[in-house]
Amino acid sequence: MARFRPVDSGQSFPALEERVLQRWRERDVFHESVRRRERAPRFVFYEGPPTANGRPGSHHVLSRVFKDVFPRYKTMRGHLVERKAGWDCHGLPVELEIERELGFQSKDDIERYGVAEFNAKCRESVLRYIDEWNLLTERIGFWIDTGEAYYTLDNSYIESVWWSLKQVFEKGLLTEGQRVVPYCPRCGTALSSHEVALGYRDVTDPSVYVRFPLRDEQGVSLLAWTTMPWTLVPHAAIAVDPGVAYVRARVGGEVLILAEALVERVLGGRAEVEQRLPGSQLLGLRYEPPFPYIGDYGERGHTVLAGDFVSVEDGTGVVHTGAAFGEDDFRLAQENGLRIHNPVRPDGRFDERTGPFAGMYVRDADPKIIDALRQSGRLFDAGEYEHSYPHCWRCDTPLLYYAKSNWYVRTTALKDELLAANEQVTWYPEHIKHGRFGNWLENNVDWALSRERYWGTPLPIWRAADGEIVCVGSRDELRELGAEVPDDLHRPYIDDASFQRDGKTFRRVPDLIDVWWDSGCMPFAQWHAPFENERRFEELFPADYICEALDQTRGWFYSLLAVSTMLFGRSSYETVLCLGLILDPEGQKMSKSKGNIVVPWDVIDAHGADAFRWYYFTSKQPWDGYRFSLETVGESVRQFLRALWNTYSFHVLYANVNEPGGESEPNDLDRWILSRLEATTERAIDRLDDYDTTFAGRAIAEFVDDLSNWYVRRSRRRFWDGDPAAFATLQHCLVTTAKLLAPLTPFVADEIYENLDGSEASVHLCDYPEPGKRDQQLEWQMQVARDAVELGRAARAQAKAKVRQPLHEAVVVAAERERAAIERFQELLLDELNVKRVRYVSQADELGRFELRPNYRSLGPRFGKLMPQVAAAVAGLDADRAARTLRDGGSVGINVDGKEHPLSADDVQLVLKPLEGYQVERAGTHAVALELTLDEELRREGLAREVVHAVQAARKAAGLNVEDRISLTLGGDGELLAAARAHEAYVTGETLATAVAYDGSDGCAPAEIDGRELRIGVEPA
Ligand SMILES: [Zn+2]
Repeated sequence: MARFRPVDSGQSFPALEERVLQRWRERDVFHESVRRRERAPRFVFYEGPPTANGRPGSHHVLSRVFKDVFPRYKTMRGHLVERKAGWDCHGLPVELEIERELGFQSKDDIERYGVAEFNAKCRESVLRYIDEWNLLTERIGFWIDTGEAYYTLDNSYIESVWWSLKQVFEKGLLTEGQRVVPYCPRCGTALSSHEVALGYRDVTDPSVYVRFPLRDEQGVSLLAWTTMPWTLVPHAAIAVDPGVAYVRARVGGEVLILAEALVERVLGGRAEVEQRLPGSQLLGLRYEPPFPYIGDYGERGHTVLAGDFVSVEDGTGVVHTGAAFGEDDFRLAQENGLRIHNPVRPDGRFDERTGPFAGMYVRDADPKIIDALRQSGRLFDAGEYEHSYPHCWRCDTPLLYYAKSNWYVRTTALKDELLAANEQVTWYPEHIKHGRFGNWLENNVDWALSRERYWGTPLPIWRAADGEIVCVGSRDELRELGAEVPDDLHRPYIDDASFQRDGKTFRRVPDLIDVWWDSGCMPFAQWHAPFENERRFEELFPADYICEALDQTRGWFYSLLAVSTMLFGRSSYETVLCLGLILDPEGQKMSKSKGNIVVPWDVIDAHGADAFRWYYFTSKQPWDGYRFSLETVGESVRQFLRALWNTYSFHVLYANVNEPGGESEPNDLDRWILSRLEATTERAIDRLDDYDTTFAGRAIAEFVDDLSNWYVRRSRRRFWDGDPAAFATLQHCLVTTAKLLAPLTPFVADEIYENLDGSEASVHLCDYPEPGKRDQQLEWQMQVARDAVELGRAARAQAKAKVRQPLHEAVVVAAERERAAIERFQELLLDELNVKRVRYVSQADELGRFELRPNYRSLGPRFGKLMPQVAAAVAGLDADRAARTLRDGGSVGINVDGKEHPLSADDVQLVLKPLEGYQVERAGTHAVALELTLDEELRREGLAREVVHAVQAARKAAGLNVEDRISLTLGGDGELLAAARAHEAYVTGETLATAVAYDGSDGCAPAEIDGRELRIGVEPA
């Protein structure tokens, strides 16, 4: 009776995984794995909520498998790891998708359509692909509680977010202010600095040099430069650096004023410098603005002012400013009492104050503006300028910087606390901590929180006509204030909730908040804390582990840290793993337009989820990024999973055929592979504890390679003979490997465990293996022996000697410990190298004769023209004696030009000329030589081995099982038959032939050996 379920050696992994999934469902393995650890110490994981309004891509698979592997590992290591799923439901991305579907161009379209209807569509769309997400999540083996998921659109979630804002408000950190903000004119809303950081792109903008003629001096102009001509329409003032040297330079009939350092670059050789003067002498000069439409900037408008932001790196050192269109400009305007005019409407178009440009989208107006400047004689030069410019991270519109009123969270007031909180966090990779993320915190700017949009968490600020404001922290609080609390806290319903106090009516400020604040609140908002589940929150705060892509340093990693630092004075996570980008094999970003996107389902259908996971876990350090294609994932199957599967199916096949009985003593090979297993367990734990799947996985892969390509291969005979020790060893190795692999490749691990052991319902209910005692000396000795085998094999390949041809002798260079090591495994060496005996020598020079050659690289510089004489002198040395001296660290002398010169080991190359008839292979101080001379007997034995090989192929072709006995008929070339006869016992033993006849002819299949014909007939006996 078969002990194990038979295994298909050509098993399709995707089909296998479907079967394993079915078993997990039936046995409820995920929940059971959590239940079993109910009272165990916790390991806390937070799910960074994805948005389900788009289909999941291969980069989502990357983050999801890394979110899976450590919770699985920690569970097996004895922790309680609850995993609550979450979905990010709010924000601009969602609105944009609906706008696109409805063909909307602007916010006016939404208002006309109706905010209630629009938001209903948003609500419906955010979970549009949730089924596909859940399907993929299950299929890739990402264990997470999707049934218990949190949704950022729930009233309970919103209420917790309101609570957080009220805390911040009461600390005086939530304020309103007029500032210059990055603004997306298409989306009609300001963005936060972390959103801006997500959207930099290289663009080509106009580069224009513009004359600003002085009022009081004919023919003299200030020369300014800008890449945003549209800002010239609302031009306010000019800034110079008082401490910098400027010049008046004559060019043709005019005089231009610009920084001395830039004259050459801007004017080239045409200019003649008339006067040098410090910037301070320019202050207060009056000039004509380029356009007349907006005039009144106050007393200091259209004059030269001192600015601390003027650069002489580019431009002219004379800076045009539009007051409302840049942070520096705005500050300059405030310092100098300029009036602020912003003639750009929220949709990015000029308003009616701008003459011929009214109604035009500002960037589209650039060419017209340049034309107008040309016609009025103000244009000095126009060209193009390539630079990196921020775009809306969602709709890709170039951002505008302009002054408007906004709500801010004053994160700058907490900079030191944020930096201190970051110190508590362990980052992978480490350099992010004080690099990318640390710098981000160092350069912190206040969080622009409000958004003038529709679908999101409403800003809980109510305001009276006189400006008095109330921040509301809960539904109850709003009710107590006398407002009617709607069933749905979203706009437009919440906009109707107003209340009276002190005879004043308070109405909600219509803004929403930044969606990143939502996700930063998930540690408590996922539990609706502090309104309920406060203990759950406390038990699960902070997270031990979070993981997302690298770009979240300015997204979720930041919002989590900032929110929890403000509320709880610490980071909400202790360890964070950052994942790199996924590129195509050419290193290009994947995009729809390039058509190089790899759909995750295609990968899973072709190779399976384990292969997908294994590729992500082991091919790179995960932050280094991936060059990804269907084929690269296929490599994980070929190089690892297939090798594992073959070893497993070999074990099952032979165990079922040769059901071992009784007991036998383990041999050195058994002891060796068991010690390697302990070493691998040690290494896997060490690496996974350090959040390193790459080297944990590679250690396991090396073990599987040792197991299949050394242990099993060297033990075939024992499996054939039903040796119980060999079966027990392989069984233990495979079951333990399944456990080691379980967090990484959960499907194949479970299948192997289930068939070979199955004492638990799943491998995922087992404890992770603990390392046991190793025999390090044995491991070392085996390595020495294997290195010798490698050298011997290389020598055979070099000599093009066939592997099945036995040779007389291998000569191995090894002394003392190494010789003892190889002698311990001498049988194995003889067999692997297919030689009749091993001879040991202690020095490589016994394998041949050394020749000395001058090392030109070291001697050339020293001797120069004398090199020919040096070469002759080296050639004249006693090579063997010199080689010994040099190898022992001594020096040898040569006489050149009547003088004695010492040469060291660096000065000469020792080239070993092998003995006649031998092939030598060296690596460092190790060397193996094979004697290549054959006699008749060796040749005949070689042919007999070829015959066996051909018969085995014929058995396979005839579809015989490994254990089937045959009746063998051979025919053909006389010499081959003579060889088979001479080694008949060997031939029949190897091929399981009960009888052999040598009269084979027509009925037999032909084979060819060394150009000779062999005819083979195999019949079941
Ligand atoms: Zn936008």
